[in-house]
Amino acid sequence: MASSNMYSLEPIPGAGLGMVATVFIPRGTQILAEPPLFTLSADFSNPTQLTAAIEAKVRALSSDTQRTAFFALHNNYATDRAISAAAGIVKTNAHPLGVGARECGLFPECSRFNHSCASNSSYTWIAATGKETIFAGKDIPAGQQITVNYLDEHSLLQKRSDRRAAILALFRFGCGCDVCAGTPAEVAASDARRVEIARLDRLIGGGGMLVMVSPARCLDSCKQILQLYMDEGMNDDALFKTYNDAFQICVMHGDLARASAFAALAVTCTGAGGPSLESVRPYVEHPERHAYAGMSQKWRTERRKFRGLDQNGFEKWLWKRADW
Ligand SMILES: [Zn+2]
Repeated sequence: MASSNMYSLEPIPGAGLGMVATVFIPRGTQILAEPPLFTLSADFSNPTQLTAAIEAKVRALSSDTQRTAFFALHNNYATDRAISAAAGIVKTNAHPLGVGARECGLFPECSRFNHSCASNSSYTWIAATGKETIFAGKDIPAGQQITVNYLDEHSLLQKRSDRRAAILALFRFGCGCDVCAGTPAEVAASDARRVEIARLDRLIGGGGMLVMVSPARCLDSCKQILQLYMDEGMNDDALFKTYNDAFQICVMHGDLARASAFAALAVTCTGAGGPSLESVRPYVEHPERHAYAGMSQKWRTERRKFRGLDQNGFEKWLWKRADW
């Protein structure tokens, strides 16, 4: 089952079936855009209401093909007699329509992509097209499994033992991704990197005061976070938030040149058309329009003074403010 010739459904050792790239897929490629089989806005903590809502949606499916696609989805609750087959399938496979959304959708093909704690692709719900969309966050060689992340940001930055517990509770499988299956030394190093990223991230985000008082220190934390993500093999959409933080720190202190450069780097991290992307894209050209612009003039520059620098020179210029 695959609607694209970019990938095919294959057996994955230890993980049932998964989608494997059949060709080289460059970073940023839209791998899949799928409309929902149906959407649902129900209270998942109220089993009676949830089951009734689901049964009605399944009855309303307009063709046998749709019903077959629905009942072919994996059910993590198959052995739980208190949960109907349809409810089990929805609980296993429903995706929220955007981060934190109450409404969710069923996407038979998207559901075939397995989780990894260092995934090479990511989901984005694009409201404008009404499609759940998967973008390659990294270059994916032919033969490699295409993976996405099922966890929220907080859980993803926990140690392996905590991530595994979260995945088991939410999705009822034990994660055997490349990161989780590492040697004890590799796992210890990975755990240390993730915990440090979370610590630095809290430092920048903790109420905003440090960003106002010690922007150089905050920008240095951004630089460290980016390096840790690279070392962790998470050089994809995970970088977006950090580039966006660096953009905000610079724009807040009047450094429009670097603000613009960081906004441009943030834009390269997300699949084309995602809502996060749209939240930053306008500031590449017009950082001065951001709500934080002009709060301080401590680092005042005009836009785009970095033209003509090579990559090395650009990096040095970009992080100059991080010396503290
Ligand atoms: Zn894992």
